[in-house]
Amino acid sequence: ERKFFVGGNWKMNGNKKEIDGIIAFLTAGPLDPNTELVCGVPSCYLEYCRQKLPATIGVAAQNCYKVSKGAFTGEISPAMIKDVGVEWVILGHSERRNVFGESDALIAEKVGHALSEGLKVIPCIGEKLEERESGKTEEVVFSQLKAIIEKIPLDKWENVVIAYEPVWAIGTGKTASPQQAQEVHGKLRQWLSENVNAEVAQKVRIIYGGSVTAENCRELAKEADIDGSLVGGASLKPDFIHIVNASQ
Ligand code: 13P
Repeated sequence: ERKFFVGGNWKMNGNKKEIDGIIAFLTAGPLDPNTELVCGVPSCYLEYCRQKLPATIGVAAQNCYKVSKGAFTGEISPAMIKDVGVEWVILGHSERRNVFGESDALIAEKVGHALSEGLKVIPCIGEKLEERESGKTEEVVFSQLKAIIEKIPLDKWENVVIAYEPVWAIGTGKTASPQQAQEVHGKLRQWLSENVNAEVAQKVRIIYGGSVTAENCRELAKEADIDGSLVGGASLKPDFIHIVNASQ
């Protein structure tokens, strides 16, 4: 059984006052103990959040670089993230790919380095609207995933949660239907069984992201290969509790 996983990706939102509000509603709960919950916070608040959130709630950085230290102005390393007590990093988010021009190859290197430093990783993949409309969804997500799996040692898969986030669904209010999401999740799991192995495919959690709300989270969670969600806008509001508890 794959444990239900919900990530709140705050993106570049919040200040200490607003973060205190989020921490307050998360702490008040109630949170389904059968859900693994992780909050992706801006890098300057990583330590603040790690200190204020209970240990049962994970904290994730939203990006990191591919080496442990050096002359890389503006970057942070997995070693630094670990040093402030944080366990997770989100990598290859569509905003990193499309706003900041990160390539499959760079993202894969980051995933490999973060895992080797002992971080748990949420690599993100997903097609753009024009790719979906021209029938290229599978081609795109398989090639994004191919770059990433080559950098994941077999014994590190337990530290990986894959996020499928169709770009056309992110921040648009156009959620993929449960059927559309399940179709891709099922194909990703099948692809993993053929390109990594059956055990990894069976065990790895594949979560959906893109306009997940308190209203649509339960229908998504019912699908066989959807193991949770990665939530942007809705993770900043108290309704997020319903999304965390969507598998109950
Ligand atoms: P929204 O939930 O705001 O659509 O964002 C999804 C996302 O990008 C999560 O990483």
